[in-house]
Amino acid sequence: MRQAFKLLLIGLYGLLPFVPLILLAVMPLPSTHAGRPFRDDLASALAMTGFGLVFLEYLVIHRLRPVSNLFGCGPVMRMHQLFARTACLFLVAHPFLYSLWGTMGSTGGPAPRALGIHGASLLTGALAWVSLIALVMFAVHRHDSGKDYHRWRFWHAVLALAVIGLGLHHTLHAGLYASLPWISAYWWALLMVAVVVNLTIYLVMPLRQGVHPYALTGVSQRAEQTWELTLSARGAPVVAPRPGQFFWLKHRSPWSRRDHPFSVMQSSSPADRLHFLIREAGPFTQSIPRLPQGDTFYLDGPYGDFQIPEQAQTVVLIAGGIGIAPVIHLLQDCAQRDDVRRFLVVVAAKTPAKHVDLASCIPLSRILHLSLVRVVEAPDPVWADRVGRCDGTMVRSLCQEAGISLVDPGVHVMICGPTAMADSVERELVRAGLPIVALTTERYQYDLGERSPLAQRSVRQWWAISLAMLMASAGFAYLI
Ligand SMILES: Cc1cc2nc3c(=O)[nH]c(=O)nc-3n(C[C@H](O)[C@H](O)[C@H](O)COP(=O)(O)OP(=O)(O)OC[C@H]3O[C@@H](n4cnc5c(N)ncnc54)[C@H](O)[C@@H]3O)c2cc1C
Repeated sequence: MRQAFKLLLIGLYGLLPFVPLILLAVMPLPSTHAGRPFRDDLASALAMTGFGLVFLEYLVIHRLRPVSNLFGCGPVMRMHQLFARTACLFLVAHPFLYSLWGTMGSTGGPAPRALGIHGASLLTGALAWVSLIALVMFAVHRHDSGKDYHRWRFWHAVLALAVIGLGLHHTLHAGLYASLPWISAYWWALLMVAVVVNLTIYLVMPLRQGVHPYALTGVSQRAEQTWELTLSARGAPVVAPRPGQFFWLKHRSPWSRRDHPFSVMQSSSPADRLHFLIREAGPFTQSIPRLPQGDTFYLDGPYGDFQIPEQAQTVVLIAGGIGIAPVIHLLQDCAQRDDVRRFLVVVAAKTPAKHVDLASCIPLSRILHLSLVRVVEAPDPVWADRVGRCDGTMVRSLCQEAGISLVDPGVHVMICGPTAMADSVERELVRAGLPIVALTTERYQYDLGERSPLAQRSVRQWWAISLAMLMASAGFAYLI
């Protein structure tokens, strides 16, 4: 059922950018709209498909719970980043394909042998074109710029709105086919969807969060620079998270533009009390030990899909650094259910002082078949467990030592940790025969730079779909 729903959503997503082309192909065209050169129809088709994708980018963001809970936030963000490139390429290229430059319609509206572009629509088109390039370039180089993350996110949203607003004006006033009622209705419908998504995220969700305030009722140190934050509901609690899920935490106001995602380490059900494990990284996380008791938080979530599949018989959990937070929640759930499946848990940290004492968080003895391996890179004289870098080679040999065959269809591997570790483990285990579907990774950085098999699979799918979009646009231009 879940799989069928996923496929339905993917199908709808793939179909939506083509709706104008399909409508134009099946509906009778007025004679004024026929007879343009192939190049110009290709330019229009790319513009329509690309602009449809821009709208869809609003739907493929992790703040839409049904989407992120079904696909996981990482894959959703990866597709958002990839299809932004397709939209950008199509839209940036389209003005160069027109052959009718120089035969622009003046103010009399579009005509087939002229480019329906003049004055205002030329200006909005140019501004949307520049805004789109800026939007994608700033996103691609987000880390290089050293900019404040939250400021970047604000300007990302502003530029996206500019592309939509300016682009819509340009399309409706310059587009030959957009002058047809059913095509302009399509653009207005997409605009409505984008408005609804924005209103939901920036108005409805903060209003909803405002009625579920949480109070800070505990901060305790769990390891070096690592704090457990306990929040207690002041009124009605939020939806209880599934193990492996996370919330965006807003400090002091539900309207704050600064929010931070944190995996739940422990939760009561209903979610009266939530525990988070937080490592110091920047201004907010470093302020945690100094926060006063009773301080107010607002929660957005739960999000994510980092859960152990029911059908898995042997589960390998690999946690690097603060990636231990969701793994604790998963193991607590297994302990509560007296899970009899087999578990190999590998927990890696730089030094012994950075290791969280798992026995104090989870009744480990209730998980009957559990092997726990702790790894550090820089041991102290009393360290008695593994030493080294927790990469693919180490995890592969730990699986071998535990007698786990990676080609066994009952094995499922789950990774949460730094990008370099996750990439290396994914690569090595897939090379050793682990099917890619037996791999789930949660990343705390939404970047495309990963050279992991899961990211590469997304890139292959993106190439295939983007090429299909290009060919469909060319096919449309040829047939129309
Ligand atoms: C799904 C997810 C779950 C996470 N779970 C945990 C956890 O359980 N424990 C933990 O210690 N850390 C977790 N993190 C990382 C944590 O969110 C950041 O370390 C924290 O937000 C940093 O905030 P800061 O003000 O201290 O530093 P900043 O300087 O503001 O941020 C440092 C970096 O954190 C990332 N970041 C900050 N805010 C956001 C945001 N709103 N959305 C996405 N990324 C952001 C950005 O890459 C940014 O460059 C998680 C991240 C993600 C994406």
